[in-house]
Amino acid sequence: MKDSRCCASELKLKDACGVFGVYSFNGANLAKPTYYGLFSLQHRGQESAGIYVSDGRRFKGRAGMGLVNMIFNEDNLKELTGHIAIGHVRYSTTGSSILENAQPFVIESKFGPIAVAHNGNLINTKELRDHLPDYKFKGTTDTEIIAALLANSPESDFEAALIKTLAQCRGAFSLIIMTNDKLVAVRDPHGIRPLSIGKLDDAYVFSSETCGLDVVGAVFVRDVDAGELVIIDAQGLRSKTWSRGEREAMCVFEFIYFARPDSLIKGRSFHDIRVHLGKYLAVEQPANADMVIAVPDSGIPAAIGYASESGIPFSEGLIKNRYIGRTFIQPTQALRDIGVKMKLNPIRDAVRGRKIVLMDDSIVRGTTSRQIVRLLRDCGAREVHFRVSSPPIMHSCFYGIDTPSRADLIAANLSVEGIRKYIEADSLGYLSLKSLTKAINLPADRSCLACLNGEYPVNIPERLQSLKLFFE
Ligand code: SF4
Repeated sequence: MKDSRCCASELKLKDACGVFGVYSFNGANLAKPTYYGLFSLQHRGQESAGIYVSDGRRFKGRAGMGLVNMIFNEDNLKELTGHIAIGHVRYSTTGSSILENAQPFVIESKFGPIAVAHNGNLINTKELRDHLPDYKFKGTTDTEIIAALLANSPESDFEAALIKTLAQCRGAFSLIIMTNDKLVAVRDPHGIRPLSIGKLDDAYVFSSETCGLDVVGAVFVRDVDAGELVIIDAQGLRSKTWSRGEREAMCVFEFIYFARPDSLIKGRSFHDIRVHLGKYLAVEQPANADMVIAVPDSGIPAAIGYASESGIPFSEGLIKNRYIGRTFIQPTQALRDIGVKMKLNPIRDAVRGRKIVLMDDSIVRGTTSRQIVRLLRDCGAREVHFRVSSPPIMHSCFYGIDTPSRADLIAANLSVEGIRKYIEADSLGYLSLKSLTKAINLPADRSCLACLNGEYPVNIPERLQSLKLFFE
């Protein structure tokens, strides 16, 4: 395994986008609610963001690099007048982080302009691109391929063209699509990425997570089903099943880490689910310790659960710098040496002389975990017992989560004891797959566990190693 460098932006697996859309039946301007929705979904992607609106006749909008509040302000939001809106925040998984790849992707077609916002990743992009020999690509994303297939469909009816396009796509896709007079939400046949529907006065709202509904005051109605197409236009909301018979396979890492803890899934908060992951872990992987601390923020709910089940007190032990954002400064050797210290700092008095359970939601390369263990020891921790609220990540994700190749995944290369030694912990314990599925209350045959057990719900083409820069 390569000993990859670690910097603050490499602490975690990276999610691959958030999508948001609103349709108002009373003509309300929707750029601002879309801004707020994207602001709530910012954790799902920080590389670029965009909003497009339609007033029924034409689109207005913009997309740019950076955080939502770096791209939009009072003045430019005022210019975006329309009663249908679509928004996107991006973390790149197919196509690099450049303006041409920012979304929503807008394309002209015989149906009028079409805007597409995508959360997920297609696995048959090369094959699909070959179906568009004359199309001049502007960027290198799979989202542009979906938009181009739809725009160039031989079907004369928009819905027929959309269903035909979707049937060609393989992989993970939660999509929101806007035309001059329609807003459409789609989930792939396995429902790998989430997508919710909410209601706000005379408007319907789509959001990757329910936290995007909460911020605009929308009431959660239901999730878009796997293989479902929901269309909103002047006639109201209607739904179609465009694909049936595939097994559901929602990404378990949405439960473990990606989704915001205050978002809901099937009426239950992700916070509550993560507390249960910690409780199961305390039973499976007990430790003789004085306190439970978490790698903030995502490790906190599981640490609370572990503490309540084990009776070992929970305490703050590591403080996260919340203002670090994205840095475009090339790391110098000195900065690499600082590594995780830029983002996390222990509370010395809290950890000195203590036997600590340190909770994190996952270990990817192991370099960050080792640095955190070292930080705690440097501050006087007597013992560090590392606990992980997920099973070992052994395989790469091809469905919209930016994972390293297997060569860089520590659990694909070392035993648990080998990892313990590498991260220099006194003990190491992972949650079992069985307890994971119990805690999230979703059976293994209705979830995607591929990065944990190698069973991919959509077969991955041989030799497909990395999609991110496939077309560059
Ligand atoms: S492979 Fe892992 S990260 Fe990717 S969708 Fe499946 S469970 Fe989620």
